[in-house]
Amino acid sequence: MKIICIGRNYREHAKELNNPIPLKPVFFMKPDSSIIRNGKPFFYPDFSQEIHYEIELVLKIGRLGKGIAEKFAYRYYDEIGLGVDFTARDLQKECKKNGLPWEISKAFEGSAPLGEFLPTEYFPDPANIDFHLDINGKTMQEGNSADLIFSFDFLISYVSQFFPLKNGDLIFTGTPAGVGPVNRNDHLEAYIGDKKLLDFYVK
Ligand code: ZN
Repeated sequence: MKIICIGRNYREHAKELNNPIPLKPVFFMKPDSSIIRNGKPFFYPDFSQEIHYEIELVLKIGRLGKGIAEKFAYRYYDEIGLGVDFTARDLQKECKKNGLPWEISKAFEGSAPLGEFLPTEYFPDPANIDFHLDINGKTMQEGNSADLIFSFDFLISYVSQFFPLKNGDLIFTGTPAGVGPVNRNDHLEAYIGDKKLLDFYVK
């Protein structure tokens, strides 16, 4: 399986990092070794002093497809959940400054804690999903899929031109504004609506 992550998919987040609003989706990948499941802790890596949280809605692909038309894209994902796209912002700044790929800042071990998934039937309108991230009991990020620059269906269509999508592949759909640093012993809890799907500590 593969993990595809969309960057700069909320206007306010692109602005907070001084990035232009993209005309096409920006995406990158993480390997399966980035996944953390079942509330296991995230271990703060030695190579960074600035790990940022980014809470994101995650689509789970349920069907093989490539070159998927946007109007049929809804058939290709069957579950929606939440994940954190941990980012070593200090290393990413260095990569961006030098025009280099981002992998070391985005795809390191444990950089993709995943919560539980809900079937798409749970969502009456995928273009109106409220989600938020609490750290130590305080809400740090809030988003709604209505504010996506590129919709779920557009993302699936776009990405599948380049990479065939397979069962179990994940698409992190981008983070809303409000990203910031985590510290050891922080408690992260993430919700869709008032349903908690993700709960883990930084160690
Ligand atoms: Zn992200």
